[in-house]
Amino acid sequence: MAEIDSNTKVVVLTGAGISAESGIRTFRDADGLWENHAIEDVATPYAWQANPELVWQFYQARRRQLLGVEPNSAHRALVDLERFLGDNFLLVTQNVDDLHGRAGSKNLIHMHGELRILRCEKCHETFDYMSNEHLTDQYVACPSCGNERLRPHIVWFHEVPLQMSEIYSAVEQCDVFITIGTSGHVYPAAGLIEVARQNGAYCIGINLDNPMNIDLHDEFLQGKAGELLPKYVKKIIN
Ligand code: NAD
Ligand code: ZN
Repeated sequence: MAEIDSNTKVVVLTGAGISAESGIRTFRDADGLWENHAIEDVATPYAWQANPELVWQFYQARRRQLLGVEPNSAHRALVDLERFLGDNFLLVTQNVDDLHGRAGSKNLIHMHGELRILRCEKCHETFDYMSNEHLTDQYVACPSCGNERLRPHIVWFHEVPLQMSEIYSAVEQCDVFITIGTSGHVYPAAGLIEVARQNGAYCIGINLDNPMNIDLHDEFLQGKAGELLPKYVKKIIN
């Protein structure tokens, strides 16, 4: 086990697996389909251009689902770890759900965007829109510039993830890098562990199945994040 005290700089990278025990399906559990849709049909800018109604309805369903799910013990364990480490802790998530934020994580980057937020492609404003009127299958217009169709604030395939320079700088400087519930297929997220290693960080993984990049971890715990992570964090804090 890694030596972690309150001066240790820790970056945690989470993926869909950490939210699985809250009832949100991961990508790859269903043969590369996301809630029965091929990725290229719902999660690319080309899909949004060619078939905006399908894409909109897909994301509205994902947004409505947030109202019926709750953070689990793995999300909460990361809040405890952040309390212990203070500013030495950064959580980078590939997840677009809001469960880390609702659990209480503060130093948090959503590198692939957030379901809660809609964005205007004309004036670039963003809106945290989760009331009932914003969750129907009707498009939502931009209140600032009148554009009739806000888009999901999601980083689709072929788009550039958010806040990458902040992420790289934290990963380059961290002492410990922890991956949780991510299959290691989606880049650039899957490559962050290489940056951490090159800079001497100790790398820990927690995942139900072996991730693609399992060999890059110094320590790997196989199992459910909701069961393993609270115990691991307790050991660190005590
Ligand atoms: P992925 O679906 O490719 O892989 C999920 C990984 O989690 C798998 O390796 C699986 O073995 C593991 N897993 C499943 N249940 C687990 C559990 N209880 N505990 C620990 N591990 C568990 O996910 P990814 O690597 O995050 O890449 C998928 C992409 O899909 C991301 O970019 C993300 O934006 C998007 N996505 C997000 C959500 C979400 O926000 N909750 C859900 C589906 C997809
Ligand atoms: Zn606008």
